[in-house]
Amino acid sequence: MRYFPAFFDLRHRDVYVSGGGALAARKARLLLKADARVTFWGAGPEAPVRAEFDGRCAFETEQLTALSPRPALVVAASGDEEDDARVAALARAAGVPVNAVDQPQACDFVVPSLIERGDVTIGISTGGAAPVIGRRLRERIEALLPARLGALVAFAGARRGEVAERVAPEARRGFWERVLAGPVAEAVLDGDEAGAEARFAAALDDSRLPQGHVAIVGAGPGDPELLTLKALRVLQEADVVLYDNLVGTGVLELIRRDAERVYVGKKRSDHSLPQEEIGALMVRLAGEGKRVVRLKGGDPYVFGRGGEELDVLREAGIAASVVPGITAAAGCGADASVPLTHRGLSQAVTFVTAQGGSGGAPGIDWEALARLGHTIVVYMGVAKAGEVAGNLRAGGLAADTPVAVIEKGTLPEQAIVKTDLQRLPDDILAGGITGPAILVIGAVAARADGRGLVDLTRACQQHDLPAGRAATAAPGIPAPVAEGVSTKQRAYS
Ligand code: SAH
Repeated sequence: MRYFPAFFDLRHRDVYVSGGGALAARKARLLLKADARVTFWGAGPEAPVRAEFDGRCAFETEQLTALSPRPALVVAASGDEEDDARVAALARAAGVPVNAVDQPQACDFVVPSLIERGDVTIGISTGGAAPVIGRRLRERIEALLPARLGALVAFAGARRGEVAERVAPEARRGFWERVLAGPVAEAVLDGDEAGAEARFAAALDDSRLPQGHVAIVGAGPGDPELLTLKALRVLQEADVVLYDNLVGTGVLELIRRDAERVYVGKKRSDHSLPQEEIGALMVRLAGEGKRVVRLKGGDPYVFGRGGEELDVLREAGIAASVVPGITAAAGCGADASVPLTHRGLSQAVTFVTAQGGSGGAPGIDWEALARLGHTIVVYMGVAKAGEVAGNLRAGGLAADTPVAVIEKGTLPEQAIVKTDLQRLPDDILAGGITGPAILVIGAVAARADGRGLVDLTRACQQHDLPAGRAATAAPGIPAPVAEGVSTKQRAYS
């Protein structure tokens, strides 16, 4: 170990910071957080530094020549290599630990990259060898730690006495583990103080009962980097993860290694668990005290049945929470250069599904949508594209209304078909689109561009389809679908 990690108590102790520029200010800010008494030494602070620290720090404009009163630490941060070396030598001679910014050879101590969450402080050092790696590690650890970790530490700290009184010593550790990884912690981290208090009281009353929790989590459209930090955290704390087919493999790789994974479907064609059984499974697993994650593509509350699943859990008295995700429309729009609203083009957007709740026609007023003339994003619309286009045209949308079909958006396999209402069914065929895909309909779709843009002229030639052929679909009547593609289309869309 090149440097010995230690945490200094600097409360009400003197620290001298040489310099008066941005560098010195950065160090002073950090030291003030630890309640140190900071004195700036040097030719005179720059005006913004003086303004920021006036009243909170002392300023000495003479050159630092003697260390009196003797400080706890010295930080040489003038930015002038020679001056910093001189100050470092002075401190050393007086036996005061010194840090000279960017001069490891002149340092008695180094300041690590810091992660702070209330009373939790994490310092990372690479022994001065590669500070950039230290900073990158910090970013990754930052991403793993809940923003309100400090609140959780404070919550636990304030209840230690009560737990010591009421929970037998041999059960204490297990109790804290359940509380700090279960529904109580979840409530604290969500900022739900009343909920946390109630659950904590219940946990104390029944300190031996396991308490599970279900998080219904949006996995986003596929790119694992589009997960929320919260989703990442619950995935790494989960005992069991129930996921469906829309969840990308990249996201699945982020699940805690020894968590159990259960595939619950559902493509429309396959034999995955029916909805009621998914509900029952979640209730059973949480009842066993497990931390369950129900992972869903996109956002759980956008055509994701998240609301129904939450109802089932609530009815069964299971603690549950919902973590939002980036919905397909937002993710695909971002990756295909399609703004869902755009000044002068479209002032609103509607998300609709082309599939009815029970497999029948959805109760969508296409005529009204056509009249509004703003952006329409159709989910689950590939197999019904002809019908959708026909209905919108019957409602008054022009045949040349732009449409962008975005398939497997945000994933490396993303495909974009840029077409219009009239050519939509044919171009879906020509482009080989099988889904999952969204249809973005309206003026903004004309902007579609980017990774995976399909060259339709070539694609039409390859499929022996005339480019620009009139759509054959009439309102309400499905477009003809070429042999061999239809099953696949139905399966995914
Ligand atoms: N809850 C999800 C939607 C589930 S419905 C969300 O918020 O995104 C399933 C439909 O979502 C698919 O048929 C398709 O229309 C759309 N979809 C999901 N992921 C997609 C992706 N990566 N690219 C394009 N469409 C996607």
